[in-house]
Amino acid sequence: MPELPEVETVRRGLQPVMEGRIIARADVNRPDLRWPFPDNMAERLSGRTVMALRRRSKYILADLDSGETLIIHLGMSGRMQIDQHNSAKFHQEAAILKKHDHVVFHMQDGTRIAFNDARRFGAMDLTDTAGVENHWLINKLGPEPLGNAFDETYLFEALKKKSAPIKTALLDQHIVAGLGNIYVCEVLFRTGISPKRKASNLSATRAASLVPAIREVLNEAIESGGSSLRDHRQTNGELGYFQHNFAVYDREGQHCSNDCGSKIFRVVQSGRSSFYCPKCQR
Ligand SMILES: [Zn+2]
Repeated sequence: MPELPEVETVRRGLQPVMEGRIIARADVNRPDLRWPFPDNMAERLSGRTVMALRRRSKYILADLDSGETLIIHLGMSGRMQIDQHNSAKFHQEAAILKKHDHVVFHMQDGTRIAFNDARRFGAMDLTDTAGVENHWLINKLGPEPLGNAFDETYLFEALKKKSAPIKTALLDQHIVAGLGNIYVCEVLFRTGISPKRKASNLSATRAASLVPAIREVLNEAIESGGSSLRDHRQTNGELGYFQHNFAVYDREGQHCSNDCGSKIFRVVQSGRSSFYCPKCQR
């Protein structure tokens, strides 16, 4: 499942081919993905200029010159395939993937951008740009972890009210938007906080230490996504997933990278695996 850095990477990859460009025609090849598409979606997209391509949590927001915003969610397996007609390999791969190309943007300059989603957990909707923060997918989200509203005071106050383990609290999208399982594991390792510690029991200092750690971990992942993006664009134009090297995530039984002598443990919390070092994280 793509997390915030993956979505941001896709947004940055789409920016040069979509922002300021005209969607000459949009093909909508089925009535729905996870939810039905909005009425007349193809007509509402065709001929429109993409004024800005933004991100809110794990949603990509394309502001159109019609005053509407296209909300794009990649779901579990959604990918954006960019075909700039400059390689025979692109055409071959585009033909193979065509089966799951549910929405295709034909840009006026000839670029073809396909939203490909084999598992169909993705979503698209259109809403008034002015009211996008009130959209039902967005209106309950907490602050952006990389934005100004997310700071030490805010987080400490929010965690004080939570009796859940810190791991679960940080996954709560009302507290902070867009943080997923992988990066929460990494953040807790970096701050030396046990995933099992009660959120309300964290001291102000330890709660505050989470804010820069969250920003660091996300920014590093976005940077590494950027470099993998450059590689991807050279090979097949596909935007979606990339592999990072994680300190704890998916490393059960391996030695802790702090050389503390312990191994990485795994525990299931709220149905999700938490990876942590029992010696370094308290
Ligand atoms: Zn350790």
